Amino acid sequence: PDKDTNNNKEVNIQVLLRCRPLCDDELKMNVAKAVTCNESKREVTIWQNVASKQVDRVFTFDKVFGPKAQQRSIYDQAISPIVNDVLEGFNCTVFAYGQTGTGKTYTMEGGMRNKGGDLPAEAGVIPRAVRHIFDSLEAQNADYNMKVTFLELYNEEITDLLATEDFSKPLEERQKRPISLMEDGRGSVVVRGLEEETVYSANEIYNLLERGAARRRTADTLLNKRSSRSHSVFSITIHVKESAIGDEELIKCGKLNLVDLAGSENISRSGVREGRAREAGEINKSLLTLGRVINALVEHSVHVPYRDSKLTRILRDSLGGKTKTCIIATISPSAHCLEETLGTLDYAYRAK
Ligand code: ADP
Ligand code: MG
Repeated sequence: PDKDTNNNKEVNIQVLLRCRPLCDDELKMNVAKAVTCNESKREVTIWQNVASKQVDRVFTFDKVFGPKAQQRSIYDQAISPIVNDVLEGFNCTVFAYGQTGTGKTYTMEGGMRNKGGDLPAEAGVIPRAVRHIFDSLEAQNADYNMKVTFLELYNEEITDLLATEDFSKPLEERQKRPISLMEDGRGSVVVRGLEEETVYSANEIYNLLERGAARRRTADTLLNKRSSRSHSVFSITIHVKESAIGDEELIKCGKLNLVDLAGSENISRSGVREGRAREAGEINKSLLTLGRVINALVEHSVHVPYRDSKLTRILRDSLGGKTKTCIIATISPSAHCLEETLGTLDYAYRAK
């Protein structure tokens, strides 16, 4: 039988929409807005001029967060229940999807921490999830083991953002530990050669995250716009010892993947529509395949094309089946971004 056959009829995918505020430059230039959010109706309205007539398009999502929404309320309302499921032993994934500059990294990372170690108001999903997990395990006085990995996927190549460099080697060889994907025969894919750090405190994770984020920024300076074309995947795996019945130990294992996707303009429909043939390398295979996998799950298709990209292979055990997925689609309110915004809304809407 095909291992990628989708037998689970219950799909657990939640789609949220977040619209960022106009930034100072946009305000200064008096940029026109083309988006209104209605949080209580969970609706986003796009106003568009077609042949000098105003046409409105309305999209509904599981949750809508307008320009004034705080990082904290997004976490509390949408992400916190997912992290509770991870602590109960589920595999869950949170994606940020949207055009470059719309707030994916702000939503996922935001400000990591204040000097005193407490969470700043701008802290995003990752630091809040980390704090939530440690607070919860400590409150239960749990016997647990936690491991994290942090990788970047660029042009279907994996870079370990946590790899420790071997300074005895020449510069060009330092980071070249070969990383490969291997099926484990139980439906999961193991990323071989990836640094797995065991962590004991939230602060330790923040240090690792800062190290990884800095490495991503360095790569960005070396190769312009790299971060807009690459995906980053931060994963936390938690084993909690539940109880011992006789000699048998019961262990709950959950995994949380927090994914900052490449800019959605990399698969933009406008390029295709205008007949501009894009270079093969410009189309992001992992982003495209993720959309197809999610569509297949939502439509209960028999075949789910997990194997068609590295990203969907890596996330194989956390997408579909008994897992939970949350997509945060991010958009800009500016009329200049209208085409891309509609592309993002279409993509996100199809995932529902
Ligand atoms: P992306 O990762 O999608 O390319 P960023 O997260 O880097 O976008 O956001 C672009 C800019 O907009 C950053 O300066 C960021 O701080 C700001 N920004 C994004 N979303 C918000 C928001 N909801 N509130 C305030 N500033 C935001
Ligand atoms: Mg970013």
